[in-house]
Amino acid sequence: MTYSEEFAKIVEEQLARVANMKACSEKTDFANKEKIIIGTIDGDGIGPVIMDSCRAVLQKLLADEIASGKIELRRIEGLTLENRVAKMQAVPEDVLAEIKKCDVLLKGPTTTPGKGTRLPGSGDEVPNLPSANVTLRRELDLFANVRPVTIPEKNISWTFYRENTEGEYALGSRGVDISDDISIDFKVTTTQGTKRLARAAFEYAKNNGNLNVSIVTKANIMKKTDGKFLSLCMEVADNYPDIKVDDWYVDIMAANLINDDINSNFNVFILPNLYGDIITDEAAQMQGGVGTAGSSNIGDRYAMFEAIHGSAPRMVEEGIAEYANPASINRAAVMMLRHMGFSNKADLLESAIDAAAGALDLPGDGTGNTAADFTEFVLARI
Ligand code: NAD
Repeated sequence: MTYSEEFAKIVEEQLARVANMKACSEKTDFANKEKIIIGTIDGDGIGPVIMDSCRAVLQKLLADEIASGKIELRRIEGLTLENRVAKMQAVPEDVLAEIKKCDVLLKGPTTTPGKGTRLPGSGDEVPNLPSANVTLRRELDLFANVRPVTIPEKNISWTFYRENTEGEYALGSRGVDISDDISIDFKVTTTQGTKRLARAAFEYAKNNGNLNVSIVTKANIMKKTDGKFLSLCMEVADNYPDIKVDDWYVDIMAANLINDDINSNFNVFILPNLYGDIITDEAAQMQGGVGTAGSSNIGDRYAMFEAIHGSAPRMVEEGIAEYANPASINRAAVMMLRHMGFSNKADLLESAIDAAAGALDLPGDGTGNTAADFTEFVLARI
């Protein structure tokens, strides 16, 4: 295929995606659902360690609902680097089919093959498969990545709404090598994709006392895609006259977050995919490290909850995986319980995690407490 044919194919696919978004999508109604299936996925690296913790916690916290059949905790196997490489699929078809039978997912981190990524065990170099995460977000149409960050001592309470299916990630593995000297990647912004994210963020701001909303782009440089994103967010903002809205370029926002004179003024952020990815890790680090943060990927039909960190393969190589901090995935479980309408259980789990954060020391460097210590501590308080 020539690169112009390849580009035409990409455009057709994106037009079809827009047509899909325009069609009405089915919404999951948790309150009236007879049975809610929570799929749990281990993932790679430290994934199985932190997921074992979270499964034990949920089994105790939801014991009554599991016994009555209102909730099923279902373990989904096969989303491992080894199986993905064996099948040469970012998310193997049979695994995806099992995932689609669930309503919500709690997912451990998955390794994204990059240059030099090696298979654990054999040490063979891994072929360049697309990211399982990006594939799942796209397959399940999880358009909003929501990440809360709180730093009480600085009076900071932030909620990030990162666009999750478009931007630089929509075609991340579809860039084209024009020649030995030139490579081109693509970035996509759609009206439907942007507006549904903006609406979700503004609804959240409105329902929580008209919080300030900040739109973060690089619209001065990426004039088409970010320009469109900014103007669509502003259009949605017109429907929320009681909310204070401002817009920032991503570079100065990276600085604002660490400026203690102003950072507590920000509440809700709306960001395109790539900037959201970077800025939320910065914010999580300010909160106490990526091991402390959970994140949710929300769509109309499905929702997926995960830690914001990756699979930390180095911790496994160094033999210190058991020291991984499971607070991240357990905080993701708190978000999942709230999403399902189980607020009391969410509050109970959240206060147990907060207590663990105060009492235990989990730097993840092979010293201090282990994931098992964390689990034991939390189980005793729920
Ligand atoms: P990483 O987040 O996996 O690890 C960076 C460092 O953070 C680790 O070496 C460790 O010191 C620390 N860390 C991470 N989680 C921790 C925890 N729970 N407890 C204690 N310390 C923790 O970042 P990376 O090394 O850049 O990425 C590794 C792999 O994970 C890559 O393949 C990447 O693509 C993938 N990834 C997956 C997801 C996901 O599945 N959601 C997210 C980010 C990265």
